[in-house]
Amino acid sequence: MQHDAITRPTPPASAAPWPRRPTRQVMIGGVAVGGGAPVVVQSMTNTDTADVTGSVRQVAELWRAGSEMVRLTVNTPEAAAAIPRIREKLLMMGVDVPLIGDFHYNGHQLLAGEPACAEALAKYRINPGNVGFGKKKDTQFASIIEKAIEYGKPVRIGANWGSLDQALAARLMDENHARAEPWDAGRVLREALILSALESADRAVELGLPAERIVLSCKVSGVQELIAVYRDLAARSDFALHLGLTEAGIGSKGIVASAAALSVLLQEGIGDTIRISLTPEPGQSRTAEVVVAQELLQTTGQRAFTPMVTACPGCGRTTSTFFQELAKTVQEHVRAKMPEWRISHPGAENLSLAVMGCVVNGPGESRHADIGISLPGTGEAPSAPVFIDGEKKVTLKGENIATEFVALIDEYVESRYARKAG
Ligand code: SF4
Repeated sequence: MQHDAITRPTPPASAAPWPRRPTRQVMIGGVAVGGGAPVVVQSMTNTDTADVTGSVRQVAELWRAGSEMVRLTVNTPEAAAAIPRIREKLLMMGVDVPLIGDFHYNGHQLLAGEPACAEALAKYRINPGNVGFGKKKDTQFASIIEKAIEYGKPVRIGANWGSLDQALAARLMDENHARAEPWDAGRVLREALILSALESADRAVELGLPAERIVLSCKVSGVQELIAVYRDLAARSDFALHLGLTEAGIGSKGIVASAAALSVLLQEGIGDTIRISLTPEPGQSRTAEVVVAQELLQTTGQRAFTPMVTACPGCGRTTSTFFQELAKTVQEHVRAKMPEWRISHPGAENLSLAVMGCVVNGPGESRHADIGISLPGTGEAPSAPVFIDGEKKVTLKGENIATEFVALIDEYVESRYARKAG
């Protein structure tokens, strides 16, 4: 298959993100990916898929947090048998989220052996490095693609640094030795990853899967490598792309590494769907990866999901933690209200808020927000002016500043975003 060269988009003169790179659009259970559609957030469960109750609970939790597609491991006959039951229970709860099956090694057997699983999934994810080995690789890959064709499903061909197609890597190493000026090993391995995805996609198209049902990904765990791989991949194909830094890590390291890599690519218009592969902190909800993905898209101006709070870091001019607590209260309040507002007050996700610690930047930053509050710093009069649409509207004092400020936010949302009757 001929891959048209895709030129990188030109940066806009304004502060907006670059235009989305043109890709083929793939419909995944009613969700549009690529082709100019907004970047889609997805996540993955870490339950035993065969545990129907636990998996249903976690998929619903991820969906409520804002995950627009949820991937589950399908690794055993029991897991495959659980998929249609999970789907059915979710639909009974009103959770109509596309489920993606993650297959390695035995996907051809599981899809053939459990037709209800093949039907219930909205997309199959296969890894060309793990689909089979030796002579069996081609036939097992073809079996999965034939199931996708039979059931009308899209497929993500997801190559991964940790499970690179070893035969392909060896072939490219040999070719490299024959070069007059051999590439460094890192470049050869990046090429192997990209070719693994592109050649597999070409093979799937030859087998009859429409290109509009293929999503590609090439995940690595290094920030600079990921940027290099995806720039190259984007320039060499027009398939929709799934972005993610694999094995990003735990806590702030995972968040920073993912944001560093993905924000560069998204800014250049590369990437149609994203996942943040965070290792959850012990006891932390799996939904943290969804929140990070949304905040990454929102802070880079790609999409809005929930009102964002601008808050200063505080300094020696603030002797209390009150403004930190207020910023947290406000962010939690609007995030909790957003599922309801999304239906009753569309557009509320674009609301901008500011919680500032003193007079130095407080009034100025608050004026830039839709609603902002400038709390008193050390030595200032104990009053907190509130700015609405750039003008000082009211001054709050006393014990109930937090409650009164939150009430002002709710009133503002009601007056500006309430869905009109009829
Ligand atoms: S706004 Fe005031 S309290 Fe906040 S960081 Fe700036 S100087 Fe410090």
